[in-house]
Amino acid sequence: IIEAVGVQKHFGSFHALRGVNLTVRAGEVVVVIGPSGSGKSTFIRTLNALDPHDGGSITVDGIPLNGRQNLDAIRREVGMVFQSFNLFPHLTVLENITLAPTRVRRTSRADADQRGLELLRRVGIEEQAHKYPAQLSGGQQQRVAIARALAMDPKIMLFDEPTSALDPEMIKEVLDVMKELARSGMTMLVVTHEMGFAREVADRILFFDGGNIVEDTTPEHFYQNPQHERAKAFLSKIL
Ligand code: ATP
Ligand code: MG
Repeated sequence: IIEAVGVQKHFGSFHALRGVNLTVRAGEVVVVIGPSGSGKSTFIRTLNALDPHDGGSITVDGIPLNGRQNLDAIRREVGMVFQSFNLFPHLTVLENITLAPTRVRRTSRADADQRGLELLRRVGIEEQAHKYPAQLSGGQQQRVAIARALAMDPKIMLFDEPTSALDPEMIKEVLDVMKELARSGMTMLVVTHEMGFAREVADRILFFDGGNIVEDTTPEHFYQNPQHERAKAFLSKIL
């Protein structure tokens, strides 16, 4: 469902992605780890064209991502959740979720509200529907962000360190929602250092270093026997 071939990205003279190759099949859960600055965020941002790549090719669900062509089509297929929840502060929880479906998909208000409430139930915070983001805990806000992304019925969900800004007690509630999503068959790419999550639900682990994937293997393999020196050093620091 995702095919990246030789993906390059420069920021001025800085070479951030150096020919990344990756194939992800529908329903796979892929966890992305690696040192700070290795290109994890840059790579997943290229997958929904938040950052344009400047070399190689990316195809998402059969749609080639070239320049600004097909941008809207790709973004409809790919939901994204960030470390900072990025909710609209002046909209209620439910309004945050129904904004894109009503504006972009032209879903009726009643249908969008009903689906929004269903999604809030799925992420366990239906009773918060009419509050504003600032009235919610970080964990609740992140679950709203997940529900908002799901409201567009994406085929792929990208997560960039979704629990890094959360207090420990809130991390679990967000990871539980992500685990449920993984079990439901969603294709997911998740940048996270949550090793419990990776072990439990990841089909594959990608280890980024210096703008490329240097290890692409199963969680079992990766934890027991990392091949790459940087991966060994990295694991010894986080485990
Ligand atoms: P972290 O674990 O800290 O989130 P990361 O692996 O996600 O790191 P990226 O954010 O992808 O790293 O950044 C990769 C490199 O590209 C870094 O050296 C960063 O400084 C650089 N970079 C990222 N975004 C920009 C930008 N908009 N302009 C210039 N340089 C950038
Ligand atoms: Mg990052």
